[in-house]
Amino acid sequence: MQLEHNATVSRVIRDASDTQRIESVEYLQAGERKILRADRIIIAAFAVQSVRILLSSATAGHVAPGNHSDQLGRYLMTHPAATTFGLFEDETYPHQGVSAGQLLNHDDYDQKDAPGGFGSSQWMIGHAIKPHDLLGYGTGRPDIPGAELKTWLQRAARHLGNMTLVCEDIALPGNRVTLSDRVDNNGIACAHTHHDLAPTAAARWAQRMSEGEEILRAAGAQEVWSGPRIGMHIMGGAVMGDDPATSVTDSFGRVHDTDNLYVAGPALFPSSGAVNPTFTLSALASRQADHLLAKS
Ligand SMILES: Cc1cc2nc3c(=O)[nH]c(=O)nc-3n(C[C@H](O)[C@H](O)[C@H](O)COP(=O)(O)OP(=O)(O)OC[C@H]3O[C@@H](n4cnc5c(N)ncnc54)[C@H](O)[C@@H]3O)c2cc1C
Repeated sequence: MQLEHNATVSRVIRDASDTQRIESVEYLQAGERKILRADRIIIAAFAVQSVRILLSSATAGHVAPGNHSDQLGRYLMTHPAATTFGLFEDETYPHQGVSAGQLLNHDDYDQKDAPGGFGSSQWMIGHAIKPHDLLGYGTGRPDIPGAELKTWLQRAARHLGNMTLVCEDIALPGNRVTLSDRVDNNGIACAHTHHDLAPTAAARWAQRMSEGEEILRAAGAQEVWSGPRIGMHIMGGAVMGDDPATSVTDSFGRVHDTDNLYVAGPALFPSSGAVNPTFTLSALASRQADHLLAKS
């Protein structure tokens, strides 16, 4: 096996005599443009960059691989999420433990169809948390000024509880990765992303956030507040499916209009669910690997 370090893939190149076949990958290394030929090529550069590589591979004579039905880049998704916090009288030692949910709650995961809202959701509960880490609380209370903030932070550092909501994003065709007019240092077009949250998904998020605040109050929190809605995880853009008219790849990640080009990673997800995606994408990658090995 050969591993190329500090190599930035710029595009894949079709075989001139058989346009169903991708013959090579072009990459840049130490300012030099290089070509790697392979029987099978797998693009696994995460959701946005995998799509960018495919879009950059369009030529005057042929659309970008996977863009045979104008689907490449569409259905970009990100879980609408937020953390709700509570301050408790008892010490909770919020800095201790792992910086991920100690508990996962899927009790209402299947209750998608709430009046006015739609989508699955989960709670991740009791993260180890500090003021300024990933989900930190240090900037979440702009209403507390100056010296009062120091006292409040000292209290929060020992008495905080937290629950992070992850909701389903509804896949919309208009949410899309395209190529930007801007170029990077290598002269390759940057990716441009557009994402709007479906109103039903936003409504479900708001319903579940207010339930979360109620739960913390019922648990005895004296003060309860929530951080802003964020987009957590990135998925979609090269979605898999049986029908080449509505998807970019088949269920093994093979790009429909090619025989030997594959995509791996969350770009393949046609829907987001409401769980953190990496276990699912690992399972999918194992399935792809088994398929490729069986074919070789
Ligand atoms: C802050 C944060 C927290 C997260 N927490 C969780 C979590 O708790 N649970 C969970 O399930 N998921 C979590 N995720 C999501 C998780 O990181 C991704 O789902 C996962 O890393 C995707 O794996 P991947 O191999 O597809 O992409 P990546 O791990 O991103 O790997 C892609 C690789 O491709 C390389 N690359 C990109 N472009 C090119 C190019 N042009 N040429 C060559 N190489 C290229 C990149 O450098 C990178 O090494 C989190 C993500 C972030 C950002």
